[in-house]
Amino acid sequence: MEENVKTTALRKLRDEVFALKKSPLYEYRKENNYFPVLGEGDHDADIVFIGEAPGENEAKTGRPFCGRAGKILDELLASIDLPRESVYITNIVKDRPPKNRDPEFEEIELYAPFLDRQLEVIKPKIICTLGRFSMEYIMNRYGLRPRLSSIGKIHGEVFDATLPYGEVMYMPLYHPAAAIYNRTTMDDLKDDIQKLKKIIN
Ligand code: URA
Repeated sequence: MEENVKTTALRKLRDEVFALKKSPLYEYRKENNYFPVLGEGDHDADIVFIGEAPGENEAKTGRPFCGRAGKILDELLASIDLPRESVYITNIVKDRPPKNRDPEFEEIELYAPFLDRQLEVIKPKIICTLGRFSMEYIMNRYGLRPRLSSIGKIHGEVFDATLPYGEVMYMPLYHPAAAIYNRTTMDDLKDDIQKLKKIIN
């Protein structure tokens, strides 16, 4: 029963994003026959991963993290025996920014309330952000502003965040795309995901 309520709430949210004509990214979506990317995974997941914004592969398919960065994320999840289907994966910005540029402040402001609502529906116990944009948003939004620092300093740390439905463990991680050409970042990501495994256990 609970699951159906969640699925209905997430479907409504998806429909709203599909109809979001006021988004500065809407024209680009339509011109390229792209899809918005809402997220995928278990609606009852204990762990939610939050990336930045869809890339080209994601916008073409409507699925999060299905390109090169997604392959790295899949490998990281596999390294701690966490099936991708058992978590929920989403982004802060739901439409692809042109040429994968960084999301702009107005775009984050526009799409973040959808992320907030997704979290309220799914009610994860653990939130991991991927990259600095979702890290800054989650920390500012959920009581961790005083602890916010550069991702280089706080990746892999565990924080207690206060969401409307309760306390959540929060861990900032590097974005997997940052590890594609950077061995040190990849090693840090691998270490941090092992820390996540310890928290889960
Ligand atoms: N990068 C992201 O931040 N999100 C995706 O879904 C894909 C790449």
